[in-house]
Amino acid sequence: MNLFENVGEMGHEQVVFCHGKDPDIKAIIAIHDTTLGAAMGATRLYPYVNEEAALKDALRLSRGMTYKAACANIPVGGGKAVIISKVENKSDDLLRAYGRFVESLNGRFITGQDVNLTADDVRTISQETKHVVGVEEKSGGPAPVTAWGVFLGLKAAVEFQLQTGSLEGVRVAVQGLGNVGKNLCQHLYENGANLFVTDISYERSEEVKRLYGATVVAPDEIYSQNVDIFSPCAMGGILNDQTIPKISASIIAGCANNQLGQEKIHGQMLTDRGILYCPDYVINAGGLINVYNEMIGYNEEKAFKQVNNIYDTLLEIFARAQQQDITTNEAAKQLAEDRILNARILRHKAMAISY
Ligand code: NAD
Repeated sequence: MNLFENVGEMGHEQVVFCHGKDPDIKAIIAIHDTTLGAAMGATRLYPYVNEEAALKDALRLSRGMTYKAACANIPVGGGKAVIISKVENKSDDLLRAYGRFVESLNGRFITGQDVNLTADDVRTISQETKHVVGVEEKSGGPAPVTAWGVFLGLKAAVEFQLQTGSLEGVRVAVQGLGNVGKNLCQHLYENGANLFVTDISYERSEEVKRLYGATVVAPDEIYSQNVDIFSPCAMGGILNDQTIPKISASIIAGCANNQLGQEKIHGQMLTDRGILYCPDYVINAGGLINVYNEMIGYNEEKAFKQVNNIYDTLLEIFARAQQQDITTNEAAKQLAEDRILNARILRHKAMAISY
């Protein structure tokens, strides 16, 4: 792998390789773009097959964070960190050593909890650095805010694709009834939608059936439901060669991260089939907006207000995609890059005036 070529191609500002012998630590902190603000991105601990795989993950995910924050219109940049380790080798010493690396960046990078890290682990990291979020729970968790954002995004998609402002009688298939999925079902139910739901947990499915009159289907039957909207709220990679041909819905709007198996191929496949895809990092940005608000002093009203922007942002993305005949994920990327470029131009102008 040609290191600088790869990093340069994706536009990263800085990649920090963290190494120590006692304790033995290997971590990579990728700062993609700080034009809009300090780079935010959670830390993932994972036994990558090799260092190249770890670097690729950090580069890809940090760039995703830049786009997510820019589309959400919050003053935050994109970053991500990976600690290369087996879960059984996780120790307080390792986490504190990692915390010292985060601290050495003086707030250019702010992190939190991702795969294989717990809230307690983040508290341990915070013994060495103040540049962490999610240590003190100030908001009751991000799921309600995320679900509200997904609901608004779904409404924007209905307005654009089905030309109606009402969800009365609209049929929605929800995959995954966890913290976000269940909340989303409540909003949909309260607005008159008909729900078809699935979860690998029998109890969760039964609860949503009881509370919101949903029809429960088997996990592998959720794609082929005769519905208007498919809402992936469980795991990533579920829009792929096998599942897309089964989908009859004309809208995909859900909270799961990284829904497209392969971004370009499957984004195009959805467009070719006339399916309006709400880019995941735009529609599920409520979680990031919530974390950002916790960081600046939590105010529920303000957090929800910022989430309301998801509605207009998605309408802008759909219109852009239609006008330019491109996929919605390409349009979202363009919108994020435009916002960053504008901020950069404004900053240069301000600097020129102050000279
Ligand atoms: P969760 O763990 O509370 O819920 C996930 C649910 O999906 C669980 O009920 C689980 O049983 C179910 N599930 C797993 N595999 C399934 C399958 N094959 N078929 C059907 N159901 C299955 O998670 P969550 O917080 O609700 O988040 C859901 C998704 O949204 C995740 O991809 C997460 O990364 C993403 N996301 C969440 C937030 C947030 O604020 N929580 C923010 C942004 C993105």
